[in-house]
Amino acid sequence: MRAIPPSPGQPSRIGTVHLVGAGPGDPDLLTLRAARLIMQAGLIVHDGLVDPAILSMARSGTRMISVAKSRSRHTMQQDDINALLVREALAGNDVVRLKGGDPFVFGRGGEEAEACRAASVRVEVVPGISSAMGAAAAAQIPLTHRDHASIVSFVAGQCKGLTDQDWAGLAGKGRTLVIFMGIATAPQITEKLIADGLSPEVPVAVIENATRAAMRVLRSSLAGLADLVVREKVKSPALIVIGAVTAEPDTTLRSIALEATQ
Ligand code: SAH
Repeated sequence: MRAIPPSPGQPSRIGTVHLVGAGPGDPDLLTLRAARLIMQAGLIVHDGLVDPAILSMARSGTRMISVAKSRSRHTMQQDDINALLVREALAGNDVVRLKGGDPFVFGRGGEEAEACRAASVRVEVVPGISSAMGAAAAAQIPLTHRDHASIVSFVAGQCKGLTDQDWAGLAGKGRTLVIFMGIATAPQITEKLIADGLSPEVPVAVIENATRAAMRVLRSSLAGLADLVVREKVKSPALIVIGAVTAEPDTTLRSIALEATQ
């Protein structure tokens, strides 16, 4: 049977949207599949968190579209990003949609995948090393530890109705809490956790620019978190990690930290 030729003006094929995790920053932390897709891409749609060193791995003719968002300034709304991906794929272009970390951890990858599927556009998801994993590894903070933590939670510190969210029990003895996008709301986060019954002495680490040349790891107690953020002028991207595992890797300090979480 002969294939029906496409009608004039219609693309002969629909492109695929590859939702690709670009990891926390260091290009060495890309998956092999992500690296291959970036190097072969005709079109890359990326957000602001993707490191320039990773973008520079693309061929010279690759079309690059930045859809960077920031807390105060939205260059492109999510609906417009979804529409862009669908439009390009329907026009026959394969799209490498590059996102910081993992596309399905606070990356709105779920919404983009839904929009593509609704338009019958094929989606492939390529996992990336989430900044939570990258930051913990780079700062040598084990997110779990047989002696200190067997539960890890990832929460968004800046999202719809922070104060309405129920965080009770997410931090404390035997638990590690990783807060994404929490720098601007550090005072409210501290207040919320202390109101939930967490000791103000619980150790906290702030990891800024994890796995990049400008990485900083700052430590304090929960009570000192908001001051630390202001004093050190911590900027996004940064993660806040709360729990005994963040204490300096010195056994004396760690046991003090443990007492504080009890
Ligand atoms: N999908 C991403 C998260 C996107 S939300 C992931 O899996 O990592 C954006 C937040 O991620 C930032 O506000 C910050 O809290 C965190 N983040 C991303 N990259 C980071 C980095 N290199 N260092 C520290 N935090 C980072």
